[in-house]
Amino acid sequence: EAKRNGRNRFEYFTAAMDEMARMRRTIENDLRDAISGRQLRLYYQPITDGELKTILGYEALMRWHHPQRGIILPGDFIPIAEETGLIHSLGAYALYEACREAKSWTGEQTVSVNLSPIQFKNSGLISIVEGALQESGLPPSRLEVEITESVLLDDTLGNIRTLQSLKALGVLIALDDFGTGYSSLSYLRSFPFDKIKIDKSFINDMADSREALAIIRAITGMSRSLDIQITAEGVESAEQFAKLREEGCTLFQGYLFGRPQPAETRLTSL
Ligand code: C2E
Ligand code: MG
Ligand code: MG
Ligand code: MG
Repeated sequence: EAKRNGRNRFEYFTAAMDEMARMRRTIENDLRDAISGRQLRLYYQPITDGELKTILGYEALMRWHHPQRGIILPGDFIPIAEETGLIHSLGAYALYEACREAKSWTGEQTVSVNLSPIQFKNSGLISIVEGALQESGLPPSRLEVEITESVLLDDTLGNIRTLQSLKALGVLIALDDFGTGYSSLSYLRSFPFDKIKIDKSFINDMADSREALAIIRAITGMSRSLDIQITAEGVESAEQFAKLREEGCTLFQGYLFGRPQPAETRLTSL
């Protein structure tokens, strides 16, 4: 009986694995067409100050409008794009498109574009950023790139040089998802980041977890002495917002203020 169950379970497992592999191949093939077929779109989520006076900027978040599967979120295709190298064209598209879009806005808001660590392996990254700025006419100070700590982990020296070149262009640099992974406050000394974004998992947990709150405090405490702005991401409730202001966060992003939306329907006032 146990043996039979075991085998059934094994067969079920194998079938599930096959299905997953098949799914990956489909996504990989479809993703090649997605870029040329204009199925990739950027959605824009507002970032605001603590007084809720103005929208200071928007984070550009990619969505895949798949002809059969509907909207696919980045978590389901960015990793595949990274493994296959498609992230290079996908990332270049995001930079060109976000700059073009931001240039058309009436205000002076910034646009934040996420960069994958894989994009740092492309020696042409700087020229792509320059190209996006030149073609759109967007002032460099209105473009922000968001990187994660992993960029500071591998090929540290080379990547820090790339970050320095980006900064020399006048582009803002944010450290995203801070507090996850191999986080260390010492990273903050390795490069003069303009902003640190506290990962939303800490915001989510801070009401129940002393550790989450302690990490938020350590980050805001450090930022005060380093003169770095702190963004809280994933703010969903008024209670979280009030507490995060009290703790010294200066910028806020989350469903409480606005969800990521296509450019035409994005939130333009609070
Ligand atoms: P991220 O850069 O940390 O972006 C924030 C994520 O949190 C977004 O998920 C956003 O929709 C979500 N979010 C914002 N506010 C809230 C909230 O109040 N509650 C909750 N539950 N979630 C909130 P999304 O759009 O699914 O993107 C996931 C990740 O995919 C991003 O995380 C980023 O790492 C990556 N990504 C998105 N677009 C791009 C892109 O163009 N290029 C690259 N390389 N990565 C991208
Ligand atoms: Mg981000
Ligand atoms: Mg983030
Ligand atoms: Mg995050």
